[in-house]
Amino acid sequence: MRLLKSSRWMKQGFHYDNIETDHVREGGWLKPETHYGDPASVMAPFFANRSCDPFLPRYDRCIVGTYNTYSVNVSESAHISKAIQFATDHNIRLTIRNTGHDYNGKSAGAGAIGIWTHCMKDIEIMDYESPYYVGKAMKIGAGVQGFEAYRAADAVGLSVLGGECPTVGLAGGYTQGGGHSALSSKYGLAADQALEWEAIDGTGKYHKASRSEKSDLFWALSGGGGGTYGVVVSLTVKAHEKIPVSGANVTFSNEGVSQDAYYEAVSAYHTTLPALVDAGVMSVWYFTNTSFTISPLTGPGVPAAELERLMSPFLNKVKQLGIRYNLVVRQFSSFLEQFTGMQAPIEVGILQFGGRLIPRRVVKESNDALTSVYRYINEHGGQFIGVGLNVSMAVAGNVYKLP
Ligand SMILES: Cc1cc2nc3c(=O)[nH]c(=O)nc-3n(C[C@H](O)[C@H](O)[C@H](O)COP(=O)(O)OP(=O)(O)OC[C@H]3O[C@@H](n4cnc5c(N)ncnc54)[C@H](O)[C@@H]3O)c2cc1C
Repeated sequence: MRLLKSSRWMKQGFHYDNIETDHVREGGWLKPETHYGDPASVMAPFFANRSCDPFLPRYDRCIVGTYNTYSVNVSESAHISKAIQFATDHNIRLTIRNTGHDYNGKSAGAGAIGIWTHCMKDIEIMDYESPYYVGKAMKIGAGVQGFEAYRAADAVGLSVLGGECPTVGLAGGYTQGGGHSALSSKYGLAADQALEWEAIDGTGKYHKASRSEKSDLFWALSGGGGGTYGVVVSLTVKAHEKIPVSGANVTFSNEGVSQDAYYEAVSAYHTTLPALVDAGVMSVWYFTNTSFTISPLTGPGVPAAELERLMSPFLNKVKQLGIRYNLVVRQFSSFLEQFTGMQAPIEVGILQFGGRLIPRRVVKESNDALTSVYRYINEHGGQFIGVGLNVSMAVAGNVYKLP
């Protein structure tokens, strides 16, 4: 256990001639890796609130701001209990942090001590047996990130769920917040994969929770929100047999067509979406007032030719509207291969996101109204990023079931 003073940005005090600071200013700030290994740096710009960032003028003050003031680098349960005890005894604000991806700055806090779980990187693959689930599973330490779990699973012929941004931590805000994955239309949400949690509660006490043991804590952690019910030490999740995975990217722009035609093409994609997700496909797409991008479609167990067939009503409409598009459809032997080959890097530190759940009914029955809303958002300085999934019980199974 080690106590660290705030962020390394603070320690550097931003020496303007420092090579690392130059790198950060020239684009590094937008990369998750600049922030996730730091005990305090925050990716969401609103919550970072320009706390001593490298873009402040040389003469400006360097203040800690919203960052955790101190962090405890924990590597086992006892360290977490001691940190909680210390914060309680001294009445100090306490936060929990792995990577700093949180959109609402929940892993940061002005004046706080942060419990920094990032170095808890243990990964264990096991044969799991419980009244609810018998099969392969992965036990991951609180600091494990998506890319680490993907690689460990792939190496033994398995796949696990994680974020499209592979640096998101799995046991914190991701799975505790539900967690959507490129594999979700095949297996359900990340929280649906949870089998067992180990956690330390607010009094510093250790608990193991599953569907049959301390089930209230199990359900609270399986979707109740990161940092709410305790400090997670480890999470055990279902691991799935590796299967072939297809992928597709589509791009087009409004060049040479009216805005009405452009938005008709956008709307056609949303009309096609229910059939895609019902086939087990997951979609990430975004569009501005001038360009539309699907990046990517992920089809676990869906052959590339079938993926293209599912897209054809949409692509035919785009063609019919006189819009030229670029299409890439590829087949891969595994999720990791598809993910590495098709998922574009995701930038952080510039945009502040808000989220809405849009039910299938609205997409199916009120697509025109929905398109008008998207158009309004785009025309007023916003940008839409969509994540399309089918995570119904038909896909995830009855996660409540105990024989
Ligand atoms: C670029 C980017 C891409 C993303 N992509 C996806 C995606 O594809 N799918 C998706 O579902 N989400 C995605 N997210 C959202 C992401 O899942 C959340 O921001 C999540 O909260 C990040 O969890 P973290 O633990 O990595 O981050 P942190 O900021 O470290 O923590 C997030 C929250 O979890 C709590 N927490 C962290 N560790 C623990 C622990 N051990 N015990 C208890 N609480 C803990 C923190 O206190 C905080 O409340 C993305 C976010 C970003 C910035």
